[in-house]
Amino acid sequence: MTGLSLSMRIAQGLMKIGLAMKANEWRESAKLQLSPTQAQILAALATQGPLRLSELAALLAITLATASDAVSSLAKKGLVEKRTSEQDARALSIVPTRAGQKAAKAVAAWPDFLATAVDTLSPDEQVTFHRGLVKMIGTLQRRGQIPVARMCTHCTYFRPNVHAGSHTPHHCDFIDSAFGDGFIRIDCDDFIAATTSEGWDAWVARGSATQ
Ligand code: SF4
Repeated sequence: MTGLSLSMRIAQGLMKIGLAMKANEWRESAKLQLSPTQAQILAALATQGPLRLSELAALLAITLATASDAVSSLAKKGLVEKRTSEQDARALSIVPTRAGQKAAKAVAAWPDFLATAVDTLSPDEQVTFHRGLVKMIGTLQRRGQIPVARMCTHCTYFRPNVHAGSHTPHHCDFIDSAFGDGFIRIDCDDFIAATTSEGWDAWVARGSATQ
């Protein structure tokens, strides 16, 4: 059979999912009278805590000007405010107000429509898919094509394959617990960036997915 390669067909499928996510974002953000960028800013502040404008822009892969406009609109709506940064008295951090936190909760529920589709996959399919996603995100991140994700594979606490032969071969030194590929975190609050790529390289070198 000729035609597109499997990798191109997967990329096509991901684009279709991306379109569905964008449509959902526009629909849901309109209900909250927000732009998708404003909604993403609220969600980022809710999960990562106070952030500076430059940090927000880097996290969402948008320009400083776009981030600044969106934050100004959110401030006018009473959803965020600027406070002096705890780390640097000369810098300002953006923090959500109580109303902003409520809106962020609604935004956080948006991926539910995707999760219900993922639920139709078998447990093995989900773990394999998850490993593939982590690998793709890590690769794009290392090429500088997407913002840095707070993933286990790039975390200083990650010890891949230290329990080889077990169905939970990896170890997190922070929570002192073993886990398999299905439990690799993509956005972990306890993440601290590793200074070398050893963890990532060792995880990639191991071929198949584990629960
Ligand atoms: S601290 Fe979080 S990101 Fe780091 S290895 Fe543990 S679970 Fe993964």
